[in-house]
Amino acid sequence: MSTAPNARLLHLKGRLFLSFNLRAVTGLHIGGSPGTLAIGNVDNPVIRDPLTGQPYIPGSSLRGKMRALMEKWLGRPQNNRIGQTTIHVCKQAQDYVSCELCRTFGIPGEYDHSETSRLIVRDAFLTPTSRQELANARTDLPYTEIKWEAAIDRVTSAATPRQLERVPAGAVFAGTLTFNLYNDADTDLRLFGRVLEAMQLLEEDYLGGQGARGSGQVRFEQLRLALRLNEQYEQQLQPFHQAAATLDELIQAWRKQLGS
Ligand SMILES: [Zn+2]
Repeated sequence: MSTAPNARLLHLKGRLFLSFNLRAVTGLHIGGSPGTLAIGNVDNPVIRDPLTGQPYIPGSSLRGKMRALMEKWLGRPQNNRIGQTTIHVCKQAQDYVSCELCRTFGIPGEYDHSETSRLIVRDAFLTPTSRQELANARTDLPYTEIKWEAAIDRVTSAATPRQLERVPAGAVFAGTLTFNLYNDADTDLRLFGRVLEAMQLLEEDYLGGQGARGSGQVRFEQLRLALRLNEQYEQQLQPFHQAAATLDELIQAWRKQLGS
């Protein structure tokens, strides 16, 4: 008999809601498709909201980067090919039950032991203040700058200039994520610590493209964490609201809350 959790038996015990500001400490390049670019004519455009024309951070980009960093942090084997990338997936139920990565970020639905992802990351959009500041700054393109770089031909040493569109340093996006607490809420509350760790890893790494060349350094600010429990959920941790100026502050408060 399998001890694997069954997706059909999932019981939602509560949810954590985390909202935050994500500041571009250096210029941020999250690539869009040149084919759909409506503004300007640049080699490497950033992704923009088709309705407003404003750059945004897709939740999938943020989540994917957090997952990739956590895979390396936990040393999980990257064994499952999805399109151009390879990610870690526990293919056996007995591995899955003890894998904090797969239980946090979910696995493809084709496996019997799959559960819905606990973590949902939403798209992050420019804050009204940041939008206004960028509009006033008269950037190269609406809300963005063009960074020129030189690619050096290794044979001829000729420099070929190329362009990179970036959201300028200092831009701030407002984002939210939701974390579902399923059957064993105590364990799931501890799993949420992995989400905070992944955010910390991201601050030390980069988001989007050209990170090795200085782009994509980000910082989480003005974090607000709230817990909502459903009525059947009887656990000692009381619903709470925690505000923190920095991610480190929130992580400390969270560990204190869990008594660890
Ligand atoms: Zn796994």
